[in-house]
Amino acid sequence: MSRFFSDKYSLLTPYTPGEQPQQMKYVKLNTNESPFPPSEKALDYAAANTRPLNLYSDPECAGLNRLLAEAYGLSPDEVITTNGSDEILNFAFMAFCDANTPAVFPDITYGFYPVFAALNGLPYREIPLKEDFSVAPADYYGAKATVFIANPNAPTGIALTRGEIEGIIKANADNVVVVDEAYVDFGGESCIPLIHKYKNLLVTQTFSKSRSLAGARLGYGIACRELIGDLNTIRYSTNPYNINSMTMATGIGVLLDKPYFDANCGKIIENRAYTVSRLRELGFEVLPSSANFVFARTPKMEGGELYRRLKDKGILVRHFDKTRISDFNRITIGTAEQMDILIDALKMLLEV
Ligand code: PMP
Repeated sequence: MSRFFSDKYSLLTPYTPGEQPQQMKYVKLNTNESPFPPSEKALDYAAANTRPLNLYSDPECAGLNRLLAEAYGLSPDEVITTNGSDEILNFAFMAFCDANTPAVFPDITYGFYPVFAALNGLPYREIPLKEDFSVAPADYYGAKATVFIANPNAPTGIALTRGEIEGIIKANADNVVVVDEAYVDFGGESCIPLIHKYKNLLVTQTFSKSRSLAGARLGYGIACRELIGDLNTIRYSTNPYNINSMTMATGIGVLLDKPYFDANCGKIIENRAYTVSRLRELGFEVLPSSANFVFARTPKMEGGELYRRLKDKGILVRHFDKTRISDFNRITIGTAEQMDILIDALKMLLEV
């Protein structure tokens, strides 16, 4: 740390992203990306329609927001697009929490939430997941705090129903409830249909997983126009050109090719069912996943050890060195071929 670093941040522990190896080729099952490239149609659209790069990108992101709004039967002022959904999550902490309104989220969830809270100097509470690693909705009733719920949750993959989330929203009428739906397209129930019913609901989604655009950095939020207005106040006060022109055009291209999106989600769901049954055959406990990853442990090997042995074999999964979950590894669902390579490696390592 330099002697110039602000006291405000001197105690900050930054978020640790999953490994993104640039040299060695791994079977990469560690950061929940799609194994499928963006569709040719989307890339062709982007090549033909990217605004000249000597000009700034459209700060209103009008074309993309209009298309997203249409996809959900909403009006464009009920949509905001951001640089990955990480950006809108940060905006939500900035916009809807303060010294009197802390954030609340599960003790085991997306690791960026406590970092965003700390970055913005905001108080927060963590509520333990149940013994079976699921979220107990009633624990969030009357929270007197801005609620952040990843649904499906990460890294567990376990989803609440829309009705269960609705219970949380209803029971926190005076606070914003942020539902982070990064993984919803793999079997979860979205809360977007509830945004006209509840003025305190913000739903966030991303193009990083089901839409194969992790590297383009594109996320979005859906809420009533008042909440979107607040988020835009933050956005225009930090980076009005938060979506670059290449990403904007590619995002539009992706939305125009829905059959490709649907087919890929279907393949991941199919490969997940296959992976879960193969892992269970090998003696793994696998939490019920509605996401594009599974969270699994085996009594035969400690989680960190298994992670390292797989890495030695050229397979990257994600291990979290955290009490309660250190026995587990989070395994992204890839292609059927990638999952077979994983299963074969596990058979060898565990001698089953
Ligand atoms: N929410 C959850 C639960 C995630 O796991 C991730 C991915 N790390 C994100 C949000 C952010 O993803 P992105 O910024 O790529 O949209």
